[in-house]
Amino acid sequence: MPTQSATSAREILTGLHDVMASKLGAQAKLNKVVKIIAEAMASEVCSIYLLRDGVLELFATVGLKQEAVHVTKLAQGEGLVGTIAREVAVLNLAEAAGHPEFAYRPETGEELFHSFAGVPIIRKERAIGVLAVQHADPRAYDELEIEALQTVAMVLSELIANAGLADRASAAAGENRDSGMARLTGQRLVIGMAKGHAVYHQPRVLIEHTVAEDIEAERHRVVSAFGRMREQIDAMTGQAEFGTVGEHQEVLETYKMFAYDEGWSRRINEAIDSGLTAEAAIERVRQRMQQRMRQISDPLLADRMHDLDDLSNRLLRIVSGQLGTAAQAGLPQDAVLIARNLGPAELLEYDRRKLKGVILEEGSLTAHVTIVARAMGIPVIGRVRNVRQQIAEGDLVLLDGGEGVAFARPTQAVHEAFDARLAASQKRRAEYAAAKDLPPVTTDGVRLSVMVNAGLRDDVAALNAVGADGIGLFRTEFQFLVSATLPRRESQQRLYRSVLEAAGDKPVIFRTVDVGGDKQLPYLRASENGEENPAMGWRALRLALDRDTLMKAQARALLEAAAGRELDVMFPMVSEPWEFDEARALVEQQRAWLADRRKQLPTQIRYGAMLEVPALAEMLDVLLPRLDFLSVGTNDLTQFLFAADRSNPALAERYDWLSPAILRFLKRVVIQADAHGVPIGVCGEMGGRALEALALIGIGVKRLSITPVAVGPIKAMIRTLDRAAAMAFVGSLLEEPPQNMRAALGDWAEKNGIAVG
Ligand code: PEP
Ligand code: MG
Repeated sequence: MPTQSATSAREILTGLHDVMASKLGAQAKLNKVVKIIAEAMASEVCSIYLLRDGVLELFATVGLKQEAVHVTKLAQGEGLVGTIAREVAVLNLAEAAGHPEFAYRPETGEELFHSFAGVPIIRKERAIGVLAVQHADPRAYDELEIEALQTVAMVLSELIANAGLADRASAAAGENRDSGMARLTGQRLVIGMAKGHAVYHQPRVLIEHTVAEDIEAERHRVVSAFGRMREQIDAMTGQAEFGTVGEHQEVLETYKMFAYDEGWSRRINEAIDSGLTAEAAIERVRQRMQQRMRQISDPLLADRMHDLDDLSNRLLRIVSGQLGTAAQAGLPQDAVLIARNLGPAELLEYDRRKLKGVILEEGSLTAHVTIVARAMGIPVIGRVRNVRQQIAEGDLVLLDGGEGVAFARPTQAVHEAFDARLAASQKRRAEYAAAKDLPPVTTDGVRLSVMVNAGLRDDVAALNAVGADGIGLFRTEFQFLVSATLPRRESQQRLYRSVLEAAGDKPVIFRTVDVGGDKQLPYLRASENGEENPAMGWRALRLALDRDTLMKAQARALLEAAAGRELDVMFPMVSEPWEFDEARALVEQQRAWLADRRKQLPTQIRYGAMLEVPALAEMLDVLLPRLDFLSVGTNDLTQFLFAADRSNPALAERYDWLSPAILRFLKRVVIQADAHGVPIGVCGEMGGRALEALALIGIGVKRLSITPVAVGPIKAMIRTLDRAAAMAFVGSLLEEPPQNMRAALGDWAEKNGIAVG
């Protein structure tokens, strides 16, 4: 049985239905609307105020003096109406004049009325107007009456937007300077600076029709949308079992709980009973929840409400058929993308030239999306709370990934300071670009090698743009991470060939897939029960040797792609020499297979190992004679040396890469590699930072493979460095380590005029 509120809202909506369908002009429609509402609610006054040119203008009324229409205007925040608009919140007062914000307007004659109730008319989460009723008697309106007013306000929002009567919601947001600048902080995921307009990955669905033609049909639409949403959530939960961890799992559990929550679907059905379409009913219930959310101070509960808000949006998208993301809708020229979370493939769908930065409500340092964004050079901050409350679609956003901060609607001073820093960094970039063809030769004449880390087809362009010597680490797993299913051998081969072709004469070192650990593939179950400690788990070469079909296909793809030219292959996470032997044998088997079939082969294959597991350093005398090159992966190696999880933000700055322990360890490795005549390089992030690179060169490293944006600064540093002097100085520091290696190196660099930035 419909509730009482459904009945009263329904009465009004039935009346409104005819008005909306009529051929009357917008003003005439609003004049009728206020009459219908006043009658249905037995109110002496009913008025509609609309936001025009930033102020709230009385647009239609019964009960107030007609001379006041289009004359009475209130600023946002001024009087009761202005307060409702600014706060996007209801006011329900038995005695209006008792409210501190009450502003008396003599032209309206409202002194006759005591009680007042007003609700915002909302579009895109901003008030574009206010609907208010007043009574001569001092009485508070009951909840059902407020509910009815809010329902009517939804319908009005449609009428007003269609007629173009009020400021557009985005303009309203832009002019809503009262909310001022918002400063949001988060975790630094990818450094860099970005300026652009906010775009939500999943845009809010705009509701076209609010009044139902056929209530039964609307009920059916909601039932089937719930069915589809539940299927989606169940599928996501199923996928998560393949290794998605922690928080994500919790969110899915909450999703599931809400998706099956009878209370939620019942409230939506009640709203439909009152005469709303399925879309409007979902939105109506969402708005009600949002109001509650504002009153909740418990962060845990607020999080759960946030999940429900997310789900409402999902349900709306399903019911309205508006399923695309902002990637399909197209981006503005400069966009800062906002999402709860993104998959790497979703990120790659965006136009790279227009996407300037990303803000995530979740996210972590080693999430796939972060790895891919880093490769794309797009700054990202993560774990930012309450983004939707603080940034509206279209707001100007300044993002500083290095500082982990974003400003929405910046003040002029903040904007200018940001621009100055941005200009300085762009100027430096231009200087590096101008010097890109200068080789990395030290002042004492030693030619070092600076290569880039890459993983996507487009990264190869960076190779020439920054003037690097080649690709020192091609992370082949990126292709696997961004695919929904295991990439076929042919598509692997196409990628490798196009990378080799684009690289021209410059070498490319392909690393065989490093999956598992922090790089889980949804379609490849890493282990039956998940892993307590995936970084030290069944990953990379361990997994590849056990599941060798994958590795065989990749080996074939590499051999075929490099037919007629040289091929460099390296294996990740080699822990004992036999693992290298097995991996090499596996590639050699594929080579023999191709040779038997008289296929064209690479002219030469060089095999390398990555040193990421400390134990391997004790076996170098055994391993080195078998290697063509060695590459030190300091990202993993240092986390194992210090027993400090590389993805744990609490430990991110605890241990310094410039620690004597790390440098002594690496120096011993370099000396051994040199003694065996095996070329050695470093391909971790460490080599991309000036002082760290200086220290590495100081212990004898001659090849660095780093993130492309770091190539310019590192080459500039090398060109001011006397290698012999650096080796002598770093050597002396490691003999007797000072308290603060970083400070000692920094002072020395400054004294010797080395460009460490
Ligand atoms: C490393 O561990 O240093 C490395 C280069 O590999 P990844 O960052 O892909 O684990
Ligand atoms: Mg690694």
